Amino acid sequence: MSGRDDPLDEAGGSGGAAGSGARHARWQTKLRREGRARSGPLIYFGLVPAIVVAVLLLGAAALGTSLQIEKVQQQTVFDATMSVVVERVDRLDKMIIAQDNAALASVDVGHLSQIARRWLPTAARETPTVRAILVLDLDHDDREVRAFVSRAPGAEDDRFRRLLVGRLLVQMDLATPPGEQLRHLHTLLDEQSLLVSYWQRSHAGRRYLVVAWHDAGRLLHEVMPQLFADLDRSSRMNVVDQQGRILFGTPIQAGGFTVGLPFPTTLYNWRLQVALTGAEGLAQRALRQRLVQLAVVGFAALLAVAGVVILVRASVTERRLAALRSEFVANVSHELKTPLASVRMFGELLLTGRVPSEDKRREYLQIIVGESERLTTLIDNVLDFARVERGHAAYELERGDVATTVGRAVEVLRYRAERQGIELRLRAQPSPAVHDARAIELCVMNVLDNALKYAKGTEAVEIDVGRAPGGEAAGAAVQVRIADLGPGIAPDEQERIFDRFVRGRSAREQHARGSGIGLALVKHIAESHGGSVRVQSPLTEAGRGSAFILTLPAAPS
Ligand code: ADP
Repeated sequence: MSGRDDPLDEAGGSGGAAGSGARHARWQTKLRREGRARSGPLIYFGLVPAIVVAVLLLGAAALGTSLQIEKVQQQTVFDATMSVVVERVDRLDKMIIAQDNAALASVDVGHLSQIARRWLPTAARETPTVRAILVLDLDHDDREVRAFVSRAPGAEDDRFRRLLVGRLLVQMDLATPPGEQLRHLHTLLDEQSLLVSYWQRSHAGRRYLVVAWHDAGRLLHEVMPQLFADLDRSSRMNVVDQQGRILFGTPIQAGGFTVGLPFPTTLYNWRLQVALTGAEGLAQRALRQRLVQLAVVGFAALLAVAGVVILVRASVTERRLAALRSEFVANVSHELKTPLASVRMFGELLLTGRVPSEDKRREYLQIIVGESERLTTLIDNVLDFARVERGHAAYELERGDVATTVGRAVEVLRYRAERQGIELRLRAQPSPAVHDARAIELCVMNVLDNALKYAKGTEAVEIDVGRAPGGEAAGAAVQVRIADLGPGIAPDEQERIFDRFVRGRSAREQHARGSGIGLALVKHIAESHGGSVRVQSPLTEAGRGSAFILTLPAAPS
């Protein structure tokens, strides 16, 4: 508000004890600030990584546990499926072997002609999948077929007989000594799946081969549907050949829960594959769960980081504000001291009577009055600001002429302006508005005070009061424009200078005294009246000048 430019300021500013007091206060503030600054980064730089690491550890632990649970779940499903598959392949194997044994029971290599009589009557019931029984003389050079009994004689039988002698015998394990042992041959010939069960038998010094030819088609289309009916309902299953072609059942989605096993001894080229219903979904559910978990951990980490960032920013702002506040206290005390010192000095001069002339006496008195007014403005500013800060600011709104209010403020500062050689040019038109005259006067005095403070050495400050120019809507507003040709305000500062405690480049460059609350107060008062304040700068091509424009809603006529 008041500036060092006034010779009176300098007179007051030299107060020795007062000056050292302010220096002491600043020094103490500096010490306090440095103390906080040292512990601050330590807390933040330790706190941020600590929180992030804690969240990540927590997330990793949760993820680890869920992975373990998932693994156990998978193992359980796998074990359950496996036991189902083992049981089913065994069952089919046993069923075929039981038929083999029943078929063999009807074969007496000593009485080959009796096979048909002994086997055929019970064949459909006891050996439903055995299509034919053959007996071969292994010691005969041509491996002569000594007996062939078929349940459905036909051309197929001859083909099978030729296949057996020509191509199947070489694949059979005939090297081992003859015994009771049952063997199986499961093979693919000419795209046809063949299953034969065979035994070696000896009689009268000759080796015979007894063969039971199974009907693979019947196994697929009659036996399996019966055997796997319940499985087909409770799960997804199929039987595939060596090439993975589905022979029976439905396709199974690829996934980690499908268990496949070949039939151990009989149809060993085929596999039974089973995926328990729900097991397929389990993998997807597990994946979904993991994704959700990862998202939650990520979100928590993000929240923690965001929280810390907010904390740090809030604390930095708080510390900056605290620093600004203490600077403000120092500035205000200094500003109060200056006019007080002037009042005291000129008062004492008058008291001692050492005044050369009546004119001088009048001048001193005028200085005392002027400085008292400055003091009042200053104190009003601080009190109003304190009220605004506490949220207790209240304005007495009354209809009145803004031109009159502005005129009063101009008159208060006219004497000081004259002493600085600056003319205050007021052009005012009657402008009725509902406003708190004291508050608006304070606004104008703050802006004018700044103009006198920062635009030293210029010729004049122009004050215009009237209707806001522009359209209908703008016409309903009253505008006070205060323009100087001082250094102007850089565009990057034009917003910030209305923030509390903020002092601009011009203040720093000119070492002008002030507290940084003047424009914040102006903005608050303007907005509380439903109006606004803005700055225009520069005003000349040389980049000088600034105009503060206060707009208030006009009173309805
Ligand atoms: P201060 O006590 O610093 O004057 P204000 O809130 O009144 O605080 O002003 C904020 C800042 O705006 C000042 O520090 C100054 O840099 C800038 N400012 C205000 N008025 C003018 C002006 N007429 N010319 C140049 N700069 C100005």
